[in-house]
Amino acid sequence: MSKRDYYEVLGVERGASAEDIKKAYRKLARRYHPDVNKDDPRAADKFKEINEAYEVLSDSDKRRQYDQFGHAGVGQGPGFQGGGPGGAGGPGFDFGDFGGFGDLFDMFFGGGRQRSGPQRGADLEYDLSVDFREAAFGTEKEIRIPRTETCDRCGGTGARPGTRPERCPVCGGTGQQETVMNTPLGRMVTRRMCSRCHGDGRYIPDPCPKCQGRGQVRMARTVSVKVPAGVDTGNRIRLAGHGEPGSRGGPPGDLFIVVHVRPDPVFERDGFDVHCRVPITFVQAALGDEIEVPTLEGRMQLRVPPGTQTGTSFRLKGKGIPRLRGGGRGDQHVQVVVMTPTRLSERAKQLLRDLGDELGEETHEQNQTFFERMKNAFTRDGGRNG
Ligand SMILES: [Zn+2]
Ligand SMILES: [Zn+2]
Repeated sequence: MSKRDYYEVLGVERGASAEDIKKAYRKLARRYHPDVNKDDPRAADKFKEINEAYEVLSDSDKRRQYDQFGHAGVGQGPGFQGGGPGGAGGPGFDFGDFGGFGDLFDMFFGGGRQRSGPQRGADLEYDLSVDFREAAFGTEKEIRIPRTETCDRCGGTGARPGTRPERCPVCGGTGQQETVMNTPLGRMVTRRMCSRCHGDGRYIPDPCPKCQGRGQVRMARTVSVKVPAGVDTGNRIRLAGHGEPGSRGGPPGDLFIVVHVRPDPVFERDGFDVHCRVPITFVQAALGDEIEVPTLEGRMQLRVPPGTQTGTSFRLKGKGIPRLRGGGRGDQHVQVVVMTPTRLSERAKQLLRDLGDELGEETHEQNQTFFERMKNAFTRDGGRNG
């Protein structure tokens, strides 16, 4: 049997808003609710199809994957692939919103069973700030992450050691309470989450004193993070299995470290290259000199040739940031900035005036070239417009 397009199933446009999808879904869910279509065996299939379509289209991530890859992008079978990284609330259903319908998702998607099956723990995210140089050459950081852990006192049962949880007397262990309503459409059975055990099916007569019956405790745990050389802001480091613990024997989630690189007062980063600006005197610029420049690993000498103009960049090959996963290093670019002297003695002023006279010719030539170029630019421009 080939699967129908999910948008078609819900009767909405491909570009439909989340609100429209929800509306369409609710309307159809009411119409094909198996409890009001007892005589029509196809209604159950239909209902299942509607729910499957809604499960995908109501989740922006799944919807994107579906839009891109079709049914293959969201897994072929109906329903969930057991647990999943669920995040906060597990599968994306809004139970409260649907009241009595909520329980039916359980019926069709194994939600009821899922509740007692293994569930993977949620992923955690941690923002880690590192210095510019730490990011360049890698570092190791100890971080404290708050997370939920299985209570070691009761082993996660929530019951005081020596006692055990008992079957919930209100729901008889099913976790659900049934209400039967007579409606114009017929008898309608709704199942709600048990108010006593909240769907767990058990209650704890004597709760564990450490976790108050929750079976889990909030702890802070120290984790050592290896930050590889070359990381940049926004890079994520995955520590498999360091997320929230799974429940009922499910695997733990992952911990994602999101890197933030603090700016450096001297260096600016551009991919794996670094840039810096170094001031030189105009005497150095004119006569050339060997100057000292900062690098990520300390100072080094740089030869500035005579007649260097302000703003000139020099490239220090391989002095940039190491590329992630090998592949050498970027370069460092040193831009020299010629500083104009400001506090001049009378003698210095006189020397400069003399120098000005001496350079008169050359300065005049440079001005000539400049105005020549400006004139040409205007002429070209005028020619284009006229
Ligand atoms: Zn406990
Ligand atoms: Zn109960």
